[in-house]
Amino acid sequence: MTKLSIYDTTLRDGTQSEGISLSVNDKLKIARRLDEFGVNYIEGGWPGSNPKDVEFFDRAKSLKFKNAKLAAFGSTRRRDTLAEQDRNLQALIKAETPVVTVVGKSWELHVIDVLETNREENLDMIKESVTYLKSQGKEVIYDAEHFFDGYKAHPDYAIETLRAADEGGADVLVLCDTNGGCLPWEIQEITAAVDELFDTRLGIHTHDDGGNGVANTLAGVRGGAVHLQGTINGYGERVGNANLCSVIPNLQLKMGYSCVSAENLARLTDLSHFVDEVANQPPDSRLPYVGKKAFSHKGGIHVAAMLKNEDSYQHINPDLVGNHRQTLISDLSGRGNVIDKAHQFGLDVDNDQAKEIVTQIKDLEAQGFTFESAEASVNLMMHRMKPGYKRPFELIDFMTVVEHRQGRGVVSEATVKVRVGDQIFHTAAEGNGPVNALDTALRKALIDVYPRLINIRLDDYKVRILDSESGTAAHVRVLIDTQNGKNHWSTVGASTNIIDASWRALADSMEYALLEEQD
Ligand SMILES: [Zn+2]
Repeated sequence: MTKLSIYDTTLRDGTQSEGISLSVNDKLKIARRLDEFGVNYIEGGWPGSNPKDVEFFDRAKSLKFKNAKLAAFGSTRRRDTLAEQDRNLQALIKAETPVVTVVGKSWELHVIDVLETNREENLDMIKESVTYLKSQGKEVIYDAEHFFDGYKAHPDYAIETLRAADEGGADVLVLCDTNGGCLPWEIQEITAAVDELFDTRLGIHTHDDGGNGVANTLAGVRGGAVHLQGTINGYGERVGNANLCSVIPNLQLKMGYSCVSAENLARLTDLSHFVDEVANQPPDSRLPYVGKKAFSHKGGIHVAAMLKNEDSYQHINPDLVGNHRQTLISDLSGRGNVIDKAHQFGLDVDNDQAKEIVTQIKDLEAQGFTFESAEASVNLMMHRMKPGYKRPFELIDFMTVVEHRQGRGVVSEATVKVRVGDQIFHTAAEGNGPVNALDTALRKALIDVYPRLINIRLDDYKVRILDSESGTAAHVRVLIDTQNGKNHWSTVGASTNIIDASWRALADSMEYALLEEQD
């Protein structure tokens, strides 16, 4: 199996993504994790461009990597300067990394219009910069910016720029589709043509502007590239870089290359979530391989087939990338979804019970409920089906008032009457809104009997106004996310009245909390 080198640029190209900003601590955390995962190179930043990256390289000196080499990124020397006097190249040396990645121009349009220099000077800038960095004992990766666009405009000149880097002693020549607009077959053909001309290892760096970032990286590999650059979750400028979370499993599981160990590949989903967490990004559930929806099945026919043979509706075994299969419960579900879901919950549901649950779900969804993201409500439905199941409490009455009181602004109050066993509890509480008041009153009523409710916290409360076109009887749907420090769960309520919808979701949430805690 051919081994390919993975070069991660999440910490440099990835942070050029709008809305992503990483502190030095964040970058160090991600670097450690990337090393554990087994990437070969970690590009830490551009020390010539900002003080934060200088600090990162300073602190990274004490990091001991098991697998990866750290790379500092910068551009070739300025025109009319000597390489050894160029401030940017000096900053790269000072970063004290074993690897330096230096970017140069391959496209005449950039040489003349952007750099405002000439073809020969640009070649000198590339060759002298690489020669100088090599003389300082660095492994030098040469990034040929806009290589494919340059090659399409003037192939001979684009090749001359690579030749300059090669003569300077570059260890890898990386062909970049910087604008992200090339198509996979162009990338493959051009990479293969370059591969004919050079003995030096080739790399590929692509962006996703045409939706081909991953495909273009794979095409580069087919053209002869053995070094791949990309970012975790495809972070990057504009719409992003090639997503390593798709590139790596495609290469390894489908194309027969080796990038990381199978054991580490099974940690890919964790790595993806970890990086989102540190970067404070909501995980994209639709990401291939690592997204929450990547292996979720909703249609009843799909789920029924999956129960017979797991290969029927999934392209790989999700365990290989550390993801898992999910069965969604909705009005499209059949008995198979319910039975499969019950197994995931560790519950037993027979055929008749499953049939009844499907009917209930279809009825409730017609009323405006939705169960796809409210698994705790489905779980309760299954428990209530069990003979001998006793609800931990039953609602008798509730009342809420919202008042404007002089000097105090708007005040909400709720009273709740519930039965627990043969006892009746009647309590009142205030809150910053009617739902908060109801929540507080309900806990107050239950806390003496169920002291463990003290750890329960409402995390999120979402209201969706259902439009008349949805054809449901209800006007509002409420989803509540709750946690007890260990587990998180979601419940749903729907009604023509927002308080009633909230009460249903809330009551389910408390009942589930009491169930959870028993286990
Ligand atoms: Zn880039």
